[in-house]
Formats: sequence, C-alpha cells, structure tokens
Amino acid sequence: MRARGWEILERIRAGETLVFDGGYGTMLFAAGLANGACPELWNDTHADVVRGIHRAYFAAGSQIVETNTFGGTRLKLDEYKIGDRTRELNEQGARLAREAAPGGGYIAGSIGPTSRLPRDYALDAGVTDEEYAATFREQAEALAAGGVDLFAVETMMFPQEATAAVRACKQVADLPVMATMFFQFEEAHDRDRTMWGESPAEVAKNLLAAGADVVGMNCGRGPDRAIVIVREMRQVTDAPLVAYPNAGLPVTRGDTVTYELGPETMAREYPALLEAGADIVGACCGSNPEHIRRIAEVVRSRKK
Ligand SMILES: [Zn+2]
Repeated sequence: MRARGWEILERIRAGETLVFDGGYGTMLFAAGLANGACPELWNDTHADVVRGIHRAYFAAGSQIVETNTFGGTRLKLDEYKIGDRTRELNEQGARLAREAAPGGGYIAGSIGPTSRLPRDYALDAGVTDEEYAATFREQAEALAAGGVDLFAVETMMFPQEATAAVRACKQVADLPVMATMFFQFEEAHDRDRTMWGESPAEVAKNLLAAGADVVGMNCGRGPDRAIVIVREMRQVTDAPLVAYPNAGLPVTRGDTVTYELGPETMAREYPALLEAGADIVGACCGSNPEHIRRIAEVVRSRKK
C-alpha cells in the first residue's frame, strides 16, 4: 500500500489547493524559548507546547503541518553538543505532530539547512557531498520512523545542500518530498535569487531533477515576492508548487522582533499567489495561526 502522503499529489492533480502551516520560531519564542537555545530540544522538554502549536495550526485550517525538526540534522544539533540525540529528537518531533493531527491531517517532516557551508565555499573544512547525504539520511530515517507523511526540505540556501537533502529523503522512504529554497529580492536588479545566485526557474528544475515532488519557495521577504517567484517557476514546470513566505520583513525594536504583515494584510496577497500557480500555500517566519486562518479563508473562497 502506498503511503498516505501521496494523496496530497492526487488532490493537487484533481485541482485542489492545500493549506500548509505557519512559523514555529515565533511561537516558540513567545512560549519562552531562550535566544540561542535549541528549538528541537523542546520536543523532549516542552512536548505540550510543541503539540499545542501543531494543534493551533490544524485548528486554524492547516491541512499539512510540519514537525519541529527544522534544525534536526546531526551537523546542526552538534552546535548544541546534542548530536547523539538526533534520532530521538526527530522521531519524537514526528510523533508530537502526529498526536496533534486530526484524522485527515498530514505531517511533513521539516528538514532545514545544516548551517555548514559546502566544502568548495567554506573557509573551514566545509561539508562534502557525502557528509550532507549522511546527515540528511539520518534525519529523514528518524522522521519516517516517527510517522511523517512527507518531507519538507526547506529554507535551503545552497543548491548542493538542497539536492543532497532531497536525494537522501528519496533513498530512505517512499514518501513525497516538498523542497523549497530561500530567495532574496535583489532590488537593484528587480529579481529574486538564492544566496548562491540561482533564479526561481533554475531552482525549480534543479530540485525536480533531484527527485522532489513539489518545489517552491519559503521564508524570504514576503508574499509580494512569492507571487513573482511562483510565476517564474510555473513558466518552466507543471509540477505542484508550494509557497510559504515570511510575514514581510522583520522589524527590530530593542529586544523585540516583529514582522511587517499582520494576518489580514498578508492574506490579501494570496489570491494573486494562487493565481500565479501555487498549489500549496502557508506562511513562514513572523506568522501565527491567525495568519493561517486568514490564508485558509482565501483558499476556501477561491473558485477554481
Ligand atoms: Zn522563515
């Protein structure tokens, strides 16, 4: 029997648009996560808080919710000297989301960047392709064991890291892979590029060639640029596209960081984002369940 996650692709093919979730950092900091602390550790120490965030997103209208495992590779957890807890924290992350999910809800295993540069670009030893592959395989295996329905490879900056993560997911489990990269808006050139200079069209082709089933963008500047990025990707592929941008840019006042776009203002951009070709939409940094509630309303009210 095929894993349930594959339904997502069938539903998109049948013309449906699905709602992803919103930010976790924002919610965890609000719940007391200290600056510089490891968010994934909360899967163990603050399971109720993490489960509560998942529940709030499902209640707001998310159909796919991601695990609190964004920094869950061994390479990243090593920064906190807890690399030996990789398996446990990822499995637990998947279980917490599963426990919070209603019957029809899907769980995406979040896989973010390692924060370590590829060997060719690093000033230190850097990470080889084999090391990327191994660290992502380990995380993906643990997420699959914990029961995720699909993988969300996200906020990727480097092409070789992104494609290594996609391939690792494909090696360990027969589950769909959603892969998204971080784009910066280059105002002087009026264009969006990854940190390494790839265009949206190049990213879409590159990630699909690596085996991703759904490709797109997340984080970055906001929904205004997401619309442009998705439109450019749509010109080169018929594959399902996903977009979950930030709630605008962060605004720092003293110790507090807020984001430009409130729920209503942000959701106003989503009819154009759907029109551009996005099949799955959500939000990233600075968003909360109220943003998702508004976005879900836009998706539901749209006539295909
Ligand atoms: Zn973000």
